Amino acid sequence: MLRLFLTVFFLFSGFLFSNVINLKYNTINMVKMHNEDDYSRLLIIGGIHGNEPGSYFAPNFFTKHYKVTKGSVWVIPSLNTKSIQRNARGIYGDMNRKFNYISKKDRDFSIVSKLKKIILDERIDLVLNLHDGHGFYRDKYHNHLFNPKAWGQASIIDQNKLNSSSKFANLRDIANQVQEEINKNASNKKYNFGVKNTNTKEKNTNMQKSLTYFAIKNKKPAFAVETSKNIKKIEVKVQYQIKAIEAYLTIAGIEFTKDINISDLSAIKKSIYEFKNLRINNSILPLENIRSYIPFIPMARKNNEFEFDNLLGSIKKKKKLYYVFIGNKHITTFKPDYFKVNKKKISISIEIDGEIKQISTTSQIEVENSFKVINSKYRINVIGYGKRKDNNKLVSLKDIGSKYSLDKKKKIYRIEIYDKKIFMGSVLVKFK
Ligand SMILES: [Zn+2]
Repeated sequence: MLRLFLTVFFLFSGFLFSNVINLKYNTINMVKMHNEDDYSRLLIIGGIHGNEPGSYFAPNFFTKHYKVTKGSVWVIPSLNTKSIQRNARGIYGDMNRKFNYISKKDRDFSIVSKLKKIILDERIDLVLNLHDGHGFYRDKYHNHLFNPKAWGQASIIDQNKLNSSSKFANLRDIANQVQEEINKNASNKKYNFGVKNTNTKEKNTNMQKSLTYFAIKNKKPAFAVETSKNIKKIEVKVQYQIKAIEAYLTIAGIEFTKDINISDLSAIKKSIYEFKNLRINNSILPLENIRSYIPFIPMARKNNEFEFDNLLGSIKKKKKLYYVFIGNKHITTFKPDYFKVNKKKISISIEIDGEIKQISTTSQIEVENSFKVINSKYRINVIGYGKRKDNNKLVSLKDIGSKYSLDKKKKIYRIEIYDKKIFMGSVLVKFK
C-alpha cells in the first residue's frame, strides 16, 4: 500500500485507489490515471462547491470504473473537503471566486494556490471543472427552471475561442460536439445538455474570478460541466457527468475502457453506495451498513493514520468524537479509546470453521459457524464475547452480544489484539 503524503499523491495502478487523509485538509488529493505517454492530458476537478454532489461522486466513479489506455487523466475528486462535509457551497466563502485574487489570510489560500499550479502545469492540455447548477439551461426562456439564466445540464464556456495554438482552442466547437454526443439517443429530452457562453471577459465580472477564467487567461482550455441541482437522483447526476467526461475524453483523443454499463442506473447507484472500509492505523471499520455510533475505537492520541478505500472518505474531529463522511454523507461517528498503538501489520492464526489460516490485521474473515484465535503471544479480545482474554476459545455468533456488532445487520464483529498495554490491531469477523 502506498502511503505517500504529498500534495499530489498516488499513481495509477489498476482499478484500485485508496485515500490516505490528514484531518487538516490543506492538501489536494489527486489521482493520476495512466501518465506514461505524453499524449493529451486532461484535468478533472470535482467538489469545488460542497453542496454539489454530482460533481464529486462522478469523478470518484470515474476513477473506480475506468482505465485510461491512451493519454492521461488527472482527477481531483473532492477539492473542497470541508465544505463537502457540511454540504455547503463554501464554508469560507465561494472558492470558485478566489482565482483572480486571494488573500494569504483566506482559509482557502493553500488549496487555491496549489490548484493554480496544477492547472498551469504544462502537461495539462484541458481542464474540466465539475458542478451541479440551478435549473436546466436553455437558449430561450421556457419557465423559471428552463431558461438562459439556468446553469444545469450544460457545458459552460467563458468565450467562444481561445487565442492560442492549443488544439483545443475552439471552445464553442468542442462544447457543441459534447452536447451532440450527450443528446443523441437521449431517452429523456428534459435532461438534454446545452452550451452556455458567459462572455466572461466582456460581460461577467463575477465569473472573472472563477477557476475556468483563470485557466482561460493563462491560455489553457477549460470548461465547466454542470449537471442540474433539480435532478434529485444522485445516480442520474453521475450518469450525465460521466457522459460529459467521456465525450470530452473522446474529443481529446484519450482512450479508455470501463467495467460498468453507464446506461444501467441501478448499477451506478450501487457503485455510489459502495463505501468499503476505513483503516485506522492497524485496525479496520466496515463502512457499509455501519451503526451510526461506535464507542471505544482503539487509537493513538496523536498522529493516527486514516486510510479509506473510497476516495470521497473524510473525517472531521469535533470535541472528543470523530465523524466519518463519504462525500456529503455522514456515515458514522466513533469515539476513540486511547492506547499506545503498533502501526505495523501483524498476523495471527485463526481456525475458521475448522480450518487454520494466517490472518493479518486490517483484514476481514468470513465465518459460517465458528472461529477460534489460536494464540498465546498476544491477548485476544473478541468484542462482545465478554471474557477479555479470548485466546483459544471457540466462538460462534450466538456467543457474542449482538449489540456489539459494527453493522446494523448484526453480522460483523471485531477481534482486537493487544500486547500488554499496546494495541496491535484488529481483524473483522463477518458471519455468513
Ligand atoms: Zn458549483
